[in-house]
Amino acid sequence: MDAQVGIIGAGPAGIAAGVQLKRFHMPSIIFEKREVGGLIANAYRVDNTLLFPEGISGKEFARRLKNYAERYGLEIHTEEAVRIEVGDEIRVKTDKAAYSFKYLIVATGTRPKTLSFPEFKYHITDIEEKYEKILIVGGGDIALDYALSAAEKCSNVIVLYRSTLKALPTLQKEVKENPRINLVRGEILDIFGKKVKTTAGMLTADVFLGAVGRVPNIEIVEGIIHPNIYLAGDVKNGIYRQSSLAIADGIHVAMKIWRRERYGNP
Ligand SMILES: Cc1cc2nc3c(=O)[nH]c(=O)nc-3n(C[C@H](O)[C@H](O)[C@H](O)COP(=O)(O)OP(=O)(O)OC[C@H]3O[C@@H](n4cnc5c(N)ncnc54)[C@H](O)[C@@H]3O)c2cc1C
Repeated sequence: MDAQVGIIGAGPAGIAAGVQLKRFHMPSIIFEKREVGGLIANAYRVDNTLLFPEGISGKEFARRLKNYAERYGLEIHTEEAVRIEVGDEIRVKTDKAAYSFKYLIVATGTRPKTLSFPEFKYHITDIEEKYEKILIVGGGDIALDYALSAAEKCSNVIVLYRSTLKALPTLQKEVKENPRINLVRGEILDIFGKKVKTTAGMLTADVFLGAVGRVPNIEIVEGIIHPNIYLAGDVKNGIYRQSSLAIADGIHVAMKIWRRERYGNP
């Protein structure tokens, strides 16, 4: 075996699990295909964790997760897990190699639902360039959170939402008070370069960001039932996607694995 435990995903859930396992002296290998820290790096400001009563930016949150992983000497491989096979051991095939584990934690989070226009990006961390005008599509927490981040960089932020705003009331209030952000009810019909035809009329934008929902990255374990495979974080939490819940999940599954190893019970 390459380690007792394999962990797919180095977001809050995967890192929390890796650290808790390390405290039990159970070695793990974590696979991360993008950035250590996970999705939270996209957050404008994380206000709903007791650990940061003053609030903390998503980037800083992710940076601290990375430092935390380093402090505990977690072994993180920049590899994408592409296939899982189960037998006497659990085998994880990545884009670079194959590994065997006794236990596996799947902490793969979610991915964005996409729109039918190739112009769209879906993570604000993917937009580095400077821009004047941004169009964000969506009316939920992520869309309005992106709007607040975007308003720090550019003077004209349009949020196009279909029917009603579903975001947290506190986010809605902050967005409505921000003079750089315009909320427009409507749907995109077509895009021609920087011009956007919508049901609310013609708009223009330099950058397009979609925030129309997310789906769990669950495919890698679909159809596999094994007592030593555990899910943690957003991948299993449905609409209850919050970093504190993901961290708690990571710690929870690590404790379950330790008990299973020590006492042999599920
Ligand atoms: C704009 C925005 C604002 C947010 N604001 C808040 C907030 O204020 N408060 C709050 O608590 N939460 C907030 N969240 C939610 C929070 O980011 C998530 O709940 C949290 O990141 C979930 O952690 P996770 O570890 O389960 O998944 P993720 O953070 O999604 O981590 C999963 C990791 O797995 C990796 N991965 C996936 N598949 C593979 C694979 N096959 N191989 C290798 N690696 C893989 C991904 O690259 C990713 O890094 C926000 C999210 C967004 C997008």
